Amino acid sequence: MNILYEAYWLLWNNVSYETQVRYSGHFKGLNASITKKGNMITLNLSKKWKQIEKDIQIGLAQVLLCKLLKKKERSQYIELYHYFMKSIHIAIPKTKTEPILEESFNRVNKEYFEGIIEKPNLEWAGNNTRTLGTYDYGTDTIRISRILQEEQLIDYVMHHEMLHKHLKYKHKGHKTRHHTTQFRTKEKEFQNAEECERKLRRVGSIS
Ligand SMILES: [Zn+2]
Repeated sequence: MNILYEAYWLLWNNVSYETQVRYSGHFKGLNASITKKGNMITLNLSKKWKQIEKDIQIGLAQVLLCKLLKKKERSQYIELYHYFMKSIHIAIPKTKTEPILEESFNRVNKEYFEGIIEKPNLEWAGNNTRTLGTYDYGTDTIRISRILQEEQLIDYVMHHEMLHKHLKYKHKGHKTRHHTTQFRTKEKEFQNAEECERKLRRVGSIS
């Protein structure tokens, strides 16, 4: 019995699909995906998940199953998974940094967070994407697009991603909300927020 089968069974007490689980080295951090082809559901997950407690893997599988099958469910495993994802940053080694991004991080941390945000991994993202910034919980990494040249705009996107690290996300069963009202209110506290938004809209979007 694999974890996907178990996750399914624990939610619905019978399993009406074939299941398979593949751990792969192709994923960054703790990423995972699920696909359905005919009667076969496949869970693909980063091989880093192998080292993580089984109940948390079951929670991840249940979150992905609910998305795939468009079902609303709650379980102790799903709760555990969210709790894990929101706390994992504590255990991630901080090995990656970039001078310009680190300066931006320090400026924004001092100005808007009273210096309380712990420095995550910082990376430039390639400019083949319209996504200007991301925060990845599984690797505790903020990535900022190289397209951004202006200091103020780098800081603005950095501020947005730091808010993700700081506020985490709200969850209800498998559904998650990252850009809550509280998030949007805090985001507007950035100096010249509207001007930055206007400029950024022309080049891409922030995630
Ligand atoms: Zn965002």
